[in-house]
Amino acid sequence: MYYYIFGTSPKEYKEINSEVEVTEFINVSNDNLRAEIVITIQGLEGHESNSTLKEVVSSELVVGTMENIAVGTYFPDAISFKHALRSVAIKENFGVRIKASDKTRVIATCAYQGCKWRIRTSICEDDKSFEVRRLEGDHTCPGINRAGNRLATSTWVANEIQDIVKRNPDIPPKEINNNLEKEYGLSLPYMKLWRLREQARENIFGCIEDNYKWVPTLQAELISRNPGSHITYIYDVRDNSFQRFYVSFKVCSDGFKYGCRPLISLDACHLKSKHLGMLLSATSLDGNNGLFPIGFAVVENES
Ligand SMILES: [Zn+2]
Repeated sequence: MYYYIFGTSPKEYKEINSEVEVTEFINVSNDNLRAEIVITIQGLEGHESNSTLKEVVSSELVVGTMENIAVGTYFPDAISFKHALRSVAIKENFGVRIKASDKTRVIATCAYQGCKWRIRTSICEDDKSFEVRRLEGDHTCPGINRAGNRLATSTWVANEIQDIVKRNPDIPPKEINNNLEKEYGLSLPYMKLWRLREQARENIFGCIEDNYKWVPTLQAELISRNPGSHITYIYDVRDNSFQRFYVSFKVCSDGFKYGCRPLISLDACHLKSKHLGMLLSATSLDGNNGLFPIGFAVVENES
């Protein structure tokens, strides 16, 4: 019997036996908080073994999530534990003081003097993941001012809003604020949220400047995969900066030649990012009056 972690290559399967431990699953699933394990059972001896029986097991492993820091919860590493701890503290309205943090353990207490709340995590056998081993005492602290919770640092917020920004990169700062308010009772100024959204976008998609560096590679890759296509990249020879990128796939130009009406409509729209520019498109109509794309280009300006 074999298993592999959902999202990884089925070729990287491992044999499953009673000695496979939970921590091992977590280790392979790495930072995926939800691990799905696919178990394949190879054909029995004597049978044709080409057909494999598959069973998908969605595991209920307690891998640390934002709200869960109960005893026995696992975290891929110390950083993710601290992030979860911070989230819980902001939500439940208390301050955190890290008492000890090294390669083998993280110990934290409530920041309020006299409050007995305390948590301890230790490194697991895999030398990587951390497990919550002890959680002692109830909070006797009066709680700290929510809106000004000092734990809500920029890095924490940018990390926290990463998921919603990934789903909608253009999410208005106000909506982000609504989310934070509902989840953590936090309210942040508009401009701060705007910058945090930029930071979250950069964490997810990389910075815009870096993406431009991939254009020559993109051009080479597109040409090699679509022989006969017209794909040109023009850059400023003085400083190698981006000027124009034009794409017309062979299938599109062929389709236009053999299956479209002799009509080309041109359109342009302004690009809204730090570097502006314009997106031009050439479209035709096919036999069914459907829009048929011929080519598109990103240029500095329309003329
Ligand atoms: Zn406390």
